[in-house]
Amino acid sequence: MTGRTGRRRIGIGTGLVQGLIVTAKTMLRPSHTDEYPDVRPSLPSRSRGVIGLVQENCTSCGLCARECPDWCIQIEAHKETLPAVAGGRARQRNVLDSFTIDFSLCMYCGICVEVCPFDALIWSSEFEYAEYDIVDLTHDRGRLSQWAATAPPPPPADPAAVEPKEVGAARKALERAAKKAAAPRTAPAGASPAAKKAAAAEKAAAVKKAVPVEKAVPVERQATEPPEERGTGARGEADS
Ligand code: SF4
Ligand code: SF4
Repeated sequence: MTGRTGRRRIGIGTGLVQGLIVTAKTMLRPSHTDEYPDVRPSLPSRSRGVIGLVQENCTSCGLCARECPDWCIQIEAHKETLPAVAGGRARQRNVLDSFTIDFSLCMYCGICVEVCPFDALIWSSEFEYAEYDIVDLTHDRGRLSQWAATAPPPPPADPAAVEPKEVGAARKALERAAKKAAAPRTAPAGASPAAKKAAAAEKAAAVKKAVPVEKAVPVERQATEPPEERGTGARGEADS
């Protein structure tokens, strides 16, 4: 039966049966929901549950508080003068007094975590911090540090990633230091003959170590000797 609009009219009985069929089908399908709080959901490790603070990394620069669109980060710090070390001068540094995040205002955008230049803010997937009083949603630095302890470790570095500048500079400095340490010692001008002799012997040993065996063996001998004899020098010793 069709109405004026052209739609097929369904009787009450037919609709009821169709509804029951849908209900029965749904009941037989596996459920995709977790019965929280009886069953704790298994969330991805990088879920944005709560923000943690690694106090040792925080320099109280205030960048996170300035960038937060909701103004929910409050930082208090003071300056401390460090005594001068030998050959230097006294330095000043910031000392963190208080650090709070008001999670009743936070919209979990993650800007503060992104802008922190020292990785002092980190996401934890913990989410069970509901409170009866909204005031208790302001977490101080002690509580934020506890959240940081629950954060998963960072993922391993991508081997195909470009080497960071500071890592490259440190590696080059290490290589230079190793090269300098391995360089043969030269006797200073005016050194005793024994010291000059020892330095010359050291230099000769270093040159011998650096020159490949193939180059140390004369070309005509390389052409005639089997490869296994070139490196041993057995033939050369017999010749001499
Ligand atoms: S958490 Fe990071 S951005 Fe915020 S004050 Fe500390 S160092 Fe600066
Ligand atoms: S996640 Fe966004 S809203 Fe929340 S504290 Fe950080 S910057 Fe502010």
